[in-house]
Amino acid sequence: METIHTVAWMKQAAAEARRGDRILGFVPTMGALHEGHLSLVRAARKQCSPVAVSIFVNPKQFGPSEDLQRYPRTFEADRAALDALGVDYVFAPPPEEIYPAGFRTSVDVEGLGERLEGRTRPGHFRGVTTVVLKLFEIVQPRFSFFGRKDAQQVRILQQMTADLNLGTEIVVCPIVREADGLAMSSRNAYLNEDDRRAATALFRSLEAVRREVSRGECDGVRLLAELRRVLDAEPGVAPDYAEIVDADTFEPVRSLRKRCYILLAARVGSTRLIDNALIEPEGETFRVTV
Ligand code: AMP
Repeated sequence: METIHTVAWMKQAAAEARRGDRILGFVPTMGALHEGHLSLVRAARKQCSPVAVSIFVNPKQFGPSEDLQRYPRTFEADRAALDALGVDYVFAPPPEEIYPAGFRTSVDVEGLGERLEGRTRPGHFRGVTTVVLKLFEIVQPRFSFFGRKDAQQVRILQQMTADLNLGTEIVVCPIVREADGLAMSSRNAYLNEDDRRAATALFRSLEAVRREVSRGECDGVRLLAELRRVLDAEPGVAPDYAEIVDADTFEPVRSLRKRCYILLAARVGSTRLIDNALIEPEGETFRVTV
């Protein structure tokens, strides 16, 4: 496994990696790797060879009052985990390599990023799209792997990729969860013991919705009431938003139809967590994947 810290070197290695009929796969991350990230790497390894993984804590996607400074950084352990999985390239540039002095350009996907995560975290998605566009340009992978955990992010990146003819295909992978259902996240490291217990309410609330849907409930108001009932029973959890949205437009829907997501963000202690479930039509009913 080759560890690369500069854009010039990564471009050269990626050009080499794409030669002939080889299929270059790419997994962008911010490090502090857990099984969620590693599931993306395994998916990439199944479908592609060689595989590149980036580790870059992107300052542009953190708001001024967010956790950029304390975001967990575990580079040596990350490298060992990626090496063990057979990754070919780790791209870990310092911030000034990605944003040299005088950097001025950003990319915005209109209309999909103003609500939900975008409302609570102004500028967040612009930071994500800008860095991912740069990474796509540097690596030019055939396939790129993202988690459904960040459903709005992946929808925005799919739009950017289509709009700008970026030539990489985005593969969306399932959410990997802890044994008690908590979606894996680098930010789970911030949770103390009480927070950690309370945090399972997010998963439990989505499961409650899944049960209601399997009983035939399709009304959005009633499904969200059920979700709120579970969340409100957990005093350690302060919901930020909970919505059922069309999977394509990310606009709220009144009742289940077509593909949609139930999206959820909440503060647990000082930590902000997100989670979601995918709702898909299945014959006359709907299947909910948590
Ligand atoms: P991050 O390091 O948080 O920027 O995440 C990098 C990639 O890993 C993104 O595509 C995330 O959606 C994905 N990811 C993070 N957590 C999970 C999880 N629990 N299951 C699946 N994918 C995840």
